[in-house]
Amino acid sequence: MKNYHPKNIILIGAAITFVLSFLSTSIVYIFSDDFSFSSVLLSSAIISVGAYLIFIILIQRFIDDKLKLLYRVIGKGKKSPNESLVPDTKNNLKEAEKETEKWVNERQNEIARLKEQEAFRREFLGNLAHELKTPVFSIQGYILTLLEGGLEDESVNRKFLERASKATDRITSILNDLDEITKMEVNRFELHITTFDIVELAQEVMDSFDLPASEKGVVLKFNKKYESIFVNGDRPRISQVFTNLIANSIHYGKENGTTTIRFYPMDDVIMTEVSDNGSGIEEKDIPRLFERFYRVEQSRNRNEGGSGLGLAIVKHIIETLHKQTIAVRSTPQVGSTFAFTLAKAKK
Ligand code: ADP
Repeated sequence: MKNYHPKNIILIGAAITFVLSFLSTSIVYIFSDDFSFSSVLLSSAIISVGAYLIFIILIQRFIDDKLKLLYRVIGKGKKSPNESLVPDTKNNLKEAEKETEKWVNERQNEIARLKEQEAFRREFLGNLAHELKTPVFSIQGYILTLLEGGLEDESVNRKFLERASKATDRITSILNDLDEITKMEVNRFELHITTFDIVELAQEVMDSFDLPASEKGVVLKFNKKYESIFVNGDRPRISQVFTNLIANSIHYGKENGTTTIRFYPMDDVIMTEVSDNGSGIEEKDIPRLFERFYRVEQSRNRNEGGSGLGLAIVKHIIETLHKQTIAVRSTPQVGSTFAFTLAKAKK
């Protein structure tokens, strides 16, 4: 049957009732003495209008009950005690259709999001296991070699212990980074925004890298002399951003290279750039660089650098916590520039 509107079905039903009641009352009147066409017509009409109204009330009540049940199932309960569970009965069906469509879309989006999270979780655990396996295996190897005689061998015992100790440092650094990123996600609302001088903060972090930078002959500097520039942000977390970016610029920078920090005042924000003239990053790696545990193949193979969480932490601080942006541009063998924005402090 075609998809008729219930009202039309009722109307057809009432029309049929009219014809039938017309025929039956006609028969009754024909056999009675005072047959009058107009009274037959009138009584049939009254019967069919009555039938129409009764049908309408009953069907509408039936639809309302069913819809109430449906609304309850899809979780669209009353918002206030006075509010009806289902909207105005006249537009019930249209409203219900719209609501259901909306509900289906919401559920579909939710399912897509959950699937994405699940895939991410699987990849994350896989990466975590991989990152931890490497140093654990190497510690196991060194300890076994030492136990199997290496301990008495003066030429290797110290070296193997030092290597095992380096591997434990690596595990500690992965765990610290993990701890950091988890803490940030759990306490994401505990941001302490203050107004601070970003030039001063950058200088502080550069100073803290004096030793590792000089070991590699890397010069850390501003592109020019800056007066104070005030921004709004969580100072310790922005300090972490500088720390991770500067550490990377030294790590992946070349021997005797340079790391330069620049500031660009823009409309409502200050853009800060941390550039190096190091190994650079290939274009294919750039879109995944900020993912947790993502490390460029060479870094992974050479087992250099940190846990692959440094940039994920930076992105989380800038984009999720401060609602600002971070971007990278890089050319292999030329160098990389990481640029992030922060809200300018009002004078
Ligand atoms: P990691 O702890 O391994 O340094 P990050 O999240 O900080 O992890 O960086 C991810 C990867 O991005 C690194 O493994 C490295 O390959 C690459 N990378 C980061 N910063 C730079 C840089 N300044 N120059 C070249 N490559 C970089």
